[in-house]
Amino acid sequence: MTKSHTFSSFVTAICNHFSDHFYAKNIDIFNYCQPTPLEEPNLVHINQSLCEDLNLNPDIFNCEGALKLMSADTSNTNLKPTSVVYSGHQFGTWAGQLGDGRAVTLGEIPVKNHSANREVLWDIQLKGAGLTPYSRFADGRAVLRSTIREYLCSEAMHGLRIPTTRALCLVSSNTQVQREKSEAAAILCRVAPNHIRFGSLEHFHYLNDFDSVRQLLDYIINRHFPDWDSQEDRYEKLFKSIVISTAYLIAQWQSVGFCHGVLNTDNMCILGQTLDYGPFGFLDRYDPQWICNTSDYNGRYSFYNQPSIGLWNLNALAICFSSLLSREKIISILKLYEPTLITKYQKIMSNKLGIRYKKSNHKLVDDLLKILQKNQVDYTFFFRQLSYTQSLSDELLKLFNEKETIKIWFKNYQSLLNQEKSSRVPNISMLKVNPKFTLRNHIAQRAITNAERGDFSELKTIETLIQSPFDEHQNYYNYSLPLPDELHSERLSCSS
Ligand code: AMP
Ligand code: MG
Repeated sequence: MTKSHTFSSFVTAICNHFSDHFYAKNIDIFNYCQPTPLEEPNLVHINQSLCEDLNLNPDIFNCEGALKLMSADTSNTNLKPTSVVYSGHQFGTWAGQLGDGRAVTLGEIPVKNHSANREVLWDIQLKGAGLTPYSRFADGRAVLRSTIREYLCSEAMHGLRIPTTRALCLVSSNTQVQREKSEAAAILCRVAPNHIRFGSLEHFHYLNDFDSVRQLLDYIINRHFPDWDSQEDRYEKLFKSIVISTAYLIAQWQSVGFCHGVLNTDNMCILGQTLDYGPFGFLDRYDPQWICNTSDYNGRYSFYNQPSIGLWNLNALAICFSSLLSREKIISILKLYEPTLITKYQKIMSNKLGIRYKKSNHKLVDDLLKILQKNQVDYTFFFRQLSYTQSLSDELLKLFNEKETIKIWFKNYQSLLNQEKSSRVPNISMLKVNPKFTLRNHIAQRAITNAERGDFSELKTIETLIQSPFDEHQNYYNYSLPLPDELHSERLSCSS
């Protein structure tokens, strides 16, 4: 897309590729849906970095038209907003039809994809824009705190170079909605290459509508993998790409200590992007059993379980390919998941330790994680400090109660570094993979508390740190510190 110089030229660039395509084919995957504007809206934050990536001038949002549209008032535009249906497995059980209960897609904008050297379409969606045909018993709204959490976490993910949906701006309002208490509603403008979920395919499969499954797969291939368009093995290639990208995604989550919290199949994106930020959390102290979602009574979605849940979800998706691929083919592709995830994870962990990737080094990583867990050491802080010294500095040693075990581990680590002749202090490549800043929950909460009082400056500060989490940001050392001893990592409910 050539640079939009006005907001109206940005709006004019929005097309309806998805809905026009399925309308023409008479496939029931969306409904036209007028969003409900917020009362007394305020456009409180614009994502400058995403504007740059979308080739938009952020200044174009400083106008009445931008405030109106981003607060869900589509009058005086030619847009044809839609909400999309999907189904899914929630907590391991078939939940039937769900759908965009509070998200309305305005359409898609063309964006230059430099690596593919072609234009691709990105969805522009308003989350919290009022009732849709799929709202069921809920109100179609999002509260300010949940939009801030989603905004910050998607930027944190992007800063960590982990695939994710992003958010273009935030609108607060005086519209009141009822959660545990009455709260102000807000809208997040979510942007992503698409919002198609595993549950989108499950929706048609469980209606025995295999033609629509195939049509949706063809649409995904045409939009995202056009080179495969008329190839006979295109469905096989697509399934394989979903399996691999999901393995990569979850390996990356595990490497940064991210816990999604609600890995239902309706929250899994077919492009392997992090999608639907709810009661997520980043690990403070390293605790693989950690469950960040208070509604997850059995720990199905604990940090430790994420890799196997990824495979469970891919098995659920695999069933949707059963009308197109043989059982043997599906199984052989699913078998790629585990080794792909483990290798990717161990490669990242090797980089975090500044050592070469070798299978024989897996034990060094596993031993370290056990020691971090036993000593309740902050995951992010440990690896960052290690990058400065590559040795057991006093700063590092004081994080451990059991001094002897960590000393033994360091002896092994250092003999490996000596063998590899790879000791460098500070290790610049380690500083590029071990973030100084992560979106700790108590830090996100500070941005929320201030924003609820009308002050968005803390949100901006945190945004700057997490968008470039590998930089030093000398004056913000406090934001990189572990959770104080007297505090515990907070768990969150699904309420949003
Ligand atoms: P989530 O847990 O956010 O992934 O949501 C699960 C399903 O409930 C999705 O279909 C959402 O669109 C829907 N949903 C969540 N919150 C609301 C709400 N406040 N109003 C309407 N639908 C909602
Ligand atoms: Mg969801």
